[in-house]
This record gives sequence, C-alpha cells and structure tokens, in this order.
Amino acid sequence: MPTMHKKLACSTLPFIAICFFALSLAAQDELPHASAADRAEAVAIFKQLIETNTTDTPEGSVSAATEPLEMRFLDAGFPQSDVHLIGPDPKKLNLVVRYRAAGKPDEKPVLFLCHIDVVQALKSDWTTDPFKFVEKDGYWYGRGTQDMKDSDAALVATFLRLHREGYKPKRDLILALTADEEGGKFNGASWLVNTHRELVDAAYVINPDSGGVDLEDGRPTVAAVEATEKVYSDFQLTTTDRGGHSSLPRPDNAIYELMAALEKLQGYTFPFELNEVTRTYFANLARRETGQTADDMRAILANPPDMAAAARLSESPSYNSNFRTTCVATRLSGGDANNALPQIAQAIVNCRIFPGHSPEEIRQQLIGLFSDPKLSVKYVSDAGEVSDTAPERKAISPPPPIAEVFEPLTKITDEIWPGLPVTPIMENGASDSIYFAQAGIPSYGYSAIALEVDDVRAHGRDERLPEDSFWKSLDFFYAFAKAVGDW
Ligand SMILES: [Zn+2]
Repeated sequence: MPTMHKKLACSTLPFIAICFFALSLAAQDELPHASAADRAEAVAIFKQLIETNTTDTPEGSVSAATEPLEMRFLDAGFPQSDVHLIGPDPKKLNLVVRYRAAGKPDEKPVLFLCHIDVVQALKSDWTTDPFKFVEKDGYWYGRGTQDMKDSDAALVATFLRLHREGYKPKRDLILALTADEEGGKFNGASWLVNTHRELVDAAYVINPDSGGVDLEDGRPTVAAVEATEKVYSDFQLTTTDRGGHSSLPRPDNAIYELMAALEKLQGYTFPFELNEVTRTYFANLARRETGQTADDMRAILANPPDMAAAARLSESPSYNSNFRTTCVATRLSGGDANNALPQIAQAIVNCRIFPGHSPEEIRQQLIGLFSDPKLSVKYVSDAGEVSDTAPERKAISPPPPIAEVFEPLTKITDEIWPGLPVTPIMENGASDSIYFAQAGIPSYGYSAIALEVDDVRAHGRDERLPEDSFWKSLDFFYAFAKAVGDW
C-alpha cells in the first residue's frame, strides 16, 4: 500500500524529479539515530524551553529563553562572532547562530527559522502546569510542546551535535530563534530580515512551524510541506449614528446597519482559485480518496474547473479554505446603554487571503460588497493599529518545489516512514515564512513531527507531544541539516 502511494504520487509533474531520487536511493543506508547522550541533551533543552515562559505578557520573556541558549552555543565552542543575541527590545532578543562552512562556500546559506515565543496558557485551564515539562504516558506536556519548542530544541540539539562531531558543511547553516511570531510588537523574523538581512540572508528558509506528518490511528498518511501560505488580515467595520432615546426608535440604527453588512458577508463566497501548490496537493489527495470526493478533486483540476464539484468540496471547511480567500466575522461590539439608541457598532472581520491578492484589494472588495457609504472598513495591523487603508503587498505566488530541498527531505522522510508520500501544501494559517517570502527568499515549512490529525493541540489546553515523534524529528533534522549542508 505505501509503495503504491509513492508510485502514484510520482506521476504528478512537480514530483518527477523528487520521485526519481526517492526511488533511485531505494537501497537505503541506515539513518544515523541519535545516541542516548544526544537524546538526553535534546530533552534537557526542550525542558528548559518549556519551563521558560516566552509569552507576550508581563511575566513572559523571549530573552529568558534565548540568553541561556546563547551560553550553550558559546560553551560548545561556537565563536562569539557567529552567535548573535539581538533585538529591538530587551525582553525580545532573538538568537541567530551561524554554523560556518569549511572554506569559502559556493552556495548561499540555509536558514532554519524557529519562533521561540508561545501563546498564553492559563494554569486553571490545564490538567498540568503549562510551564512545567511533564512526562506522562509516552507524551510530554507543556505549552509549546507542539508549537514549536519541540522543533526549537531539535534544531539547537542538532547544531550542537554536528559541531561536537566536527561536521564541516560546504555552506553556512543558520539557526534563527525569534520573538513574537504569535503576536506582540517585536516580530523577530520581520525585524531580522528587514534590519539585519546580512545575518539571515539565505538561499531558502526551512521553517518547522508548519508542515509535518499526519497520523491516523498511529498510521502515517502523508508528509505535508508548506510551500506557500495565505495572508492574515483583520478589518474593522464601523457604523455610527446620532443615537437617541430607545423609547423613540427610528429606522436608522447603527446595530441594524452593521448587521446588514455582516449578513451580506455571511452570504458571500470569494471566487474559486488554485495555484501550483494546491493543484499538486489535490492531485495527490485524489489518489488517496475514493468515490465522489476523488472524482470531485479530479474535476476541479480540469480546465475549466467543474464548479459544481468545487461547491461540493467547499462544504468541507478545510478544502474550502484551500480554494479561496475567506473572511469571517470574529468579534462584535456596539451600543452605549440598554435604554439608548446605539451611536456606534463595530465588528472585526478576519480574512485569510489567497496568495496573489493584497489586503487592500480585499478591503476594496469588502467595501464593494457592503455598498454602504456610511459603513467604514479599516485595516487592523498585527500590532492592533487601525488605519484607513491596508497594505498593497501581495503574498508571492508559490515557487515550484526545489530539488535541493525536496530531494533530501523526501529521501530522509522515506527512511523514517517508508513509502510515505510527500506533498507540498498551502498553509491556511500564517507563519513567519511570509516575511522571508516577501523579501524574495523562498520558505518551506516542515517539522518532521508526526501528530494524530485529531490531536493537534497547538494554542489549546494540555498541549502535548508524543515522545516518539520528538525522536524521529531529531533524527530527521540531523540527517537533513547534513544533506543540505553538503549540497
Ligand atoms: Zn507556531
């Protein structure tokens, strides 16, 4: 069965090169597993990170995590000139470590991009203390065990292990551990690429914040690699009115006017679109699905696409989000008193914009949809600042999967999970990859972390990671860092 998946996946155009390598290397060499000492070091780093509160709150500090990591690298013998602890705020210091090539490299560096902050977690909501690294039933519990201190620890441990073993890459490898991916005013990825590009400039980025291996009842079904992502944008809708006494209602009413706009939004669907990544994704998925779903997936890939098939698939929120820009009301407020006509009503509409469109373009579409000159549609930045217009920047259309990433990625994934198909995907969430994509540096998301599809607990309560998944990702990154380092 797994062999069939791989063979079928190979007939998809962008996979020809990849599969050629995967199959030609079928005589597998044994993947070098981490030793007990390597594992112990990785877990110690993981524990230290989980037990450091890196939330964007008064109690939290990113620097409290990056400062001890800086010491680990210096103690291991990395020169101070290659270890940079920098940031625009004393609590938000990013750590950028450069693992030097032997001699003068011909290729640009490879950057591993890892955010080290986490979203808030309240002890009262959890079974365990979210800032304690708790081992239970083959899992580690704690905030960040899935998102993404698991990968932070795996990559720090990988860099230290390679250095200890005296590994000499042909090109520089860079590890950036950054602040405020989850929110906050000092996004480290954006700050680094825009103000210290020389430290993070790279041929491409590997971002383990997305992508990974899906498990269904313990069985790996697919290895997903994020090759593009939607753009996150919030819009603030406001209606105002002169108000008055509620005993004397009039037809004009700020709340009703806002509701009318929201009802239009509820009934609206953005146009169906595909790009190179989602095409490949659905072509691969069609081979695993059966019946009507498989037929529909093939039908949307036809030219022109079958819109009835697209409508049927769109009933799944997950497929729907792959097909189009989505905008949805997420917050609502209004009115001043129980016995007064409202003078203001406001809603937040959250949009996930398909690559190739800008937030301003979507804002204009919303204005056209509402067609109410009294209703304002403003843009709300990540930092919460409200402005009359939105950025014109578009997420770039995805680059094709490149061999120097996908060849080793596919090969090593196959060594860990034999026969598992690898597919590029479009991420519906947003990650720091966007800042690098906008700077012209392609970014691929892959964690090599295997999770049950119904046990994704990132941002949720009782976040946990299977221990076995951590060991596998550790083996993956060790082999992968060497493969790209030798490229
Ligand atoms: Zn994350």
